[in-house]
Amino acid sequence: MRDQTRIADLLRQNAAVSVKIEEPMSRHTTFGIGGPADLFVEVNDAKNARWVLSLLKEHEIPCMILGKGSNLLVSDAGICGAVVKYCATGIECCGTSVVAGAGVSLAKLATYAMQESLAGLAFAHGIPGTLGGACVMNAGAYGGEMKDVVVETTYLDSELKECVVRGEEHEFGYRTSIFKKKPPALILGSTLKLTKGDPEEIRAEMADYAGRRREKQPLEYPSAGSTFKRPEGHFAGALIEQCGLKGLTVGGAQVSEKHAGFVINRGGATAQDVKCLIEQIQEIVLRETGVVLECEICIL
Ligand SMILES: Cc1cc2nc3c(=O)[nH]c(=O)nc-3n(C[C@H](O)[C@H](O)[C@H](O)COP(=O)(O)OP(=O)(O)OC[C@H]3O[C@@H](n4cnc5c(N)ncnc54)[C@H](O)[C@@H]3O)c2cc1C
Repeated sequence: MRDQTRIADLLRQNAAVSVKIEEPMSRHTTFGIGGPADLFVEVNDAKNARWVLSLLKEHEIPCMILGKGSNLLVSDAGICGAVVKYCATGIECCGTSVVAGAGVSLAKLATYAMQESLAGLAFAHGIPGTLGGACVMNAGAYGGEMKDVVVETTYLDSELKECVVRGEEHEFGYRTSIFKKKPPALILGSTLKLTKGDPEEIRAEMADYAGRRREKQPLEYPSAGSTFKRPEGHFAGALIEQCGLKGLTVGGAQVSEKHAGFVINRGGATAQDVKCLIEQIQEIVLRETGVVLECEICIL
């Protein structure tokens, strides 16, 4: 990007905005992979986020929104333009409804709900993303998904107009939503409808899921979670294991020995290593089983 210093200076006129130049994305993805973003902007509230986005738009700077980077593979060349991290983390509760900013982590949100004796979010506790990222992806685990709890979402559309989607308008499906199909400029926050529950039971449920994750998933290595979507009638990990691909390695990227559905960064993996490994897995699984594996991870 040619005038990144000038744009950074313009953004820095607003004290509520933090700006870095050439910020390595490896610091902001759970894979620990990714080259520099020309501009890395952090902002905490809707008013200043809209100001940032309108300034970037005015200067025709391409822009992507980052949550916790837990579902992303960012290229080694980095990101041309701006990465905006929306850090609004407020949570409010009214009866069995919870209203939260898109930047809040699912762990914090699920813990808050438990403390308020509200059930329905235990499934989300171990998913290492934000509410915003989880709404885009319709994140889910252990039989629960965002679809079950999110009733309303506020976002800025491409013209930076504040809009609301409710209920079925979210078009939630398996790891998808209206936001995946028609990316908004920014998701600001959501309202979740939960049910009354017993905090001790919710705590036990969360502990059970955490134990299952520790036992089955390679949490000791950086990754972006399940690499592939679940193909209809199959499990991606089982197919990959059946093809003898556990441990298959390209550079620093490896098919986890613990769970074949995860590609992990064994140390020093590049995005190119991961991409190459993903392509090899897809090719071999298709040849050996006839099943097409579709990536769940967003590749940038
Ligand atoms: C160890 C591990 C375990 C995991 N387990 C699960 C699991 O059980 N179930 C599951 O579904 N996923 C799982 N994941 C994947 C990941 O955590 C989820 O997809 C999560 O919802 C992504 O949220 P994020 O905030 O990290 O989004 P990011 O990865 O930062 O972004 C994902 C997408 O959402 C967009 N986005 C994020 N925030 C906003 C916003 N405010 N406005 C507009 N767009 C936005 C981004 O632009 C991007 O397109 C796992 C990942 C890891 C590393």
